[in-house]
Amino acid sequence: MTLRLTRRFVHQLFIRRYASKDSSITTTTTTDSNKDLTTEKSSEISTVKRAFTLINPKTVHEIKRIDDTPIKNEMDLIRHRLTENRVKNIPIETDVLIIGGAIMGSSIAYFLKQRSPDMKVTVLERDWNYTTSSTVLSAGGLRQQFALEENIQMSVYGAEFLKHIRDHLSILDEDPVPVSFHHNGYLLCGSEQSVKLFEENHKTQTSLGAKSKLLTASMLKEKFPWLNTDGIAIGCYGIQNEGWLDPWALLNAFRQKALSLGVLYLNAELVGFDKSKRVWADGTIENQLDKALILSADNNRIYPMDSSFFINAAGPWAGEVAKMAGIGVAGEYPVALPVEPR
Ligand SMILES: Cc1cc2nc3c(=O)[nH]c(=O)nc-3n(C[C@H](O)[C@H](O)[C@H](O)COP(=O)(O)OP(=O)(O)OC[C@H]3O[C@@H](n4cnc5c(N)ncnc54)[C@H](O)[C@@H]3O)c2cc1C
Repeated sequence: MTLRLTRRFVHQLFIRRYASKDSSITTTTTTDSNKDLTTEKSSEISTVKRAFTLINPKTVHEIKRIDDTPIKNEMDLIRHRLTENRVKNIPIETDVLIIGGAIMGSSIAYFLKQRSPDMKVTVLERDWNYTTSSTVLSAGGLRQQFALEENIQMSVYGAEFLKHIRDHLSILDEDPVPVSFHHNGYLLCGSEQSVKLFEENHKTQTSLGAKSKLLTASMLKEKFPWLNTDGIAIGCYGIQNEGWLDPWALLNAFRQKALSLGVLYLNAELVGFDKSKRVWADGTIENQLDKALILSADNNRIYPMDSSFFINAAGPWAGEVAKMAGIGVAGEYPVALPVEPR
């Protein structure tokens, strides 16, 4: 425990000076007497310029990093970190930082915290009304009829989860927010050319525990008399574990449960990362995410936050977040994450 605290404390004693208005940052020295703790790889020969990525040009003139003030010595840093400039609820560090607090971010937070209660899990969500989140815009449909095994497995798990939602998401024995699951099978129809594909998919789905039934055109007509079956040769109907629910309610159930387990939700936006480039003796250059830069909705200021892990749960904005982390940036990881909002 002591070592852990010391390590964290030492980590915070890195002294930075923020060089110019364009926010590029240079790192100066560390004044740590315990060298073992500050240098993890002795062959490192230099730490070059830090990069500051900011992707919100609209608000850039209004915002200010909380650590813009020059810090000259350890006492300045400690005072600065612990007192006047820090909004109380934004911690200096966390174990896991999840970017995006809708259904994916909240469920990841719940599962992590449930399995590792001591882990510090923080969720960043810039829009607490979730106005543009896919989660609340979605139809909330659950189906098992996919071709890809992983999709089928996730969906089968999802149905099981919903059946036992009380065990997962109730708080202090209170029932979770009702998600209003309506059982109703999906019906997929295909022409003569699709028959083989339907049969193959059905075989895969059944082998993974999904419950669906193949129907010929006459069986379809009998079961759904209102259906025009002209040109239809085959149908596949979900007979169990398919239907729809209220996505807003499910999101709230996850959020409330995660909060009850101690997950910290911040109304804030990830706007970039402090990155460092490390050059090792063998010439390799390592790009490293140093701190997440968090724009607080409370005061429009940017707070740097350390984290051991960053999880990208930003939905349609996941491509932007990945880019901030250097994914899809020439020279770093040139292949971009092909996700963008439409
Ligand atoms: C019209 C529609 C219908 C759909 N119907 C279905 C369906 O029937 N069944 C089904 O399974 N799926 C459906 N989907 C897909 C499903 O909704 C999504 O796969 C799912 O909601 C994705 O959840 P998410 O948490 O990854 O993303 P989102 O719900 O989009 O959440 C991402 C969150 O990240 C936040 N965020 C983004 N960038 C940042 C940042 N830099 N800092 C802080 N926060 C940030 C956003 O504010 C947002 O709240 C549908 C989607 C749509 C749009």
